[in-house]
Amino acid sequence: MNESRVREVLSDLVRIPSVNPGFQGGQGEKEVAAYVRRFLERLGLPYEVQSVEPDRDNVIGTLAGRTDRCLLWEAHMDTVQTAGMTLDPFGAEVRDGRLYGRGACDTKASLAAMLVALETMKERDMLPAVTVRLAAVVDEEITYKGVSALAELIRCGGLRCDAAIVGEPTKLHAIIAHKGVLRFRIETIGAAAHSSTPEKGVNAIERMADVIAFLKRYAAERFPASRHPLTGAPTLCISMIEGGVAPNTVAERCLVSVDIRTAPGQEWEDVWADARDSVASFVREQGWPSGASVVVHRPFLTDFAMEVAPDDPLVLTLMAASNTYAPGRVAVGAPYCSDASKLTRVGVPTLVFGPGDIAEAHTADEWVELAEVVRAAAVFVHTAMHFGE
Ligand SMILES: [Zn+2]
Repeated sequence: MNESRVREVLSDLVRIPSVNPGFQGGQGEKEVAAYVRRFLERLGLPYEVQSVEPDRDNVIGTLAGRTDRCLLWEAHMDTVQTAGMTLDPFGAEVRDGRLYGRGACDTKASLAAMLVALETMKERDMLPAVTVRLAAVVDEEITYKGVSALAELIRCGGLRCDAAIVGEPTKLHAIIAHKGVLRFRIETIGAAAHSSTPEKGVNAIERMADVIAFLKRYAAERFPASRHPLTGAPTLCISMIEGGVAPNTVAERCLVSVDIRTAPGQEWEDVWADARDSVASFVREQGWPSGASVVVHRPFLTDFAMEVAPDDPLVLTLMAASNTYAPGRVAVGAPYCSDASKLTRVGVPTLVFGPGDIAEAHTADEWVELAEVVRAAAVFVHTAMHFGE
């Protein structure tokens, strides 16, 4: 692998701002998409552009292999915001073998490794065992519209895809299972009164306190049964709370946000419906006074959990490649979500793999170790050359 070339491509990518437009001042992925298109054009590789939103396109390049079977490499082009960063987010400064900047680790390092891997195979006339498609997609950091559009294209037969690697910082381990998420709000409604005569009102905050205590007991009792060997059991977190209008008024309303991380095998619809029904029966059993009620709102954000079999050919090929260049790499589970779940959802065996440490993602001085990006590029080449053999 050409180390200086990896450094050059990653520097180029980090120097192009691509903060997700969902963050204040976000430029979007447009210029990175243009860079990827130029890169593929220069190599003479065909590509298609999938429009996701105005000025937000997925770019899908193809390197033909010995068969039509297709291995997809997917990486998102957007980054999180740059507020609070302690260094130039777009400087791509290199110190002690580390390249610094927003997206350096999450996930421009993966995209750079994929681009250089494609370039290496093309320029050396290496014919991969399967056709390789590189999909640089938009909008992973907020609502995964990019991969969702890509998955829909695969589902309806518009793009062949037999296996996929999603590039995210995993320190060259393979994530073969990860959790899903559902976030919803619960609202309690009571009746206002002067706080000197609280018995004349119904305190929505105090009712919510009971609901929260119930939810914690409920999760502790119910969730261990859904434990997955690689991701662990589902979790529940009350992540936001608001309620009341004045210090001397009984609160008429209280609202919390609930974040549940589901394990592979669970469907968010079932998890949400069970939580809703359980809260309702708790409230009935507690015998709330008339005028007090609880509403469990439908989720405002959901994502699927995912898993791929540990002995899937994709996992075996990737692990062999990874351990060739970086010994000691293992297949593991993760508690967070990624684009991979949208691909497994349409039947594509998918794992998550890439250079960098997830602990560095979204940080004030985000960096990635260049040597690891070089090793990742070698792993991508090796996997393409041997997958399906
Ligand atoms: Zn990412």
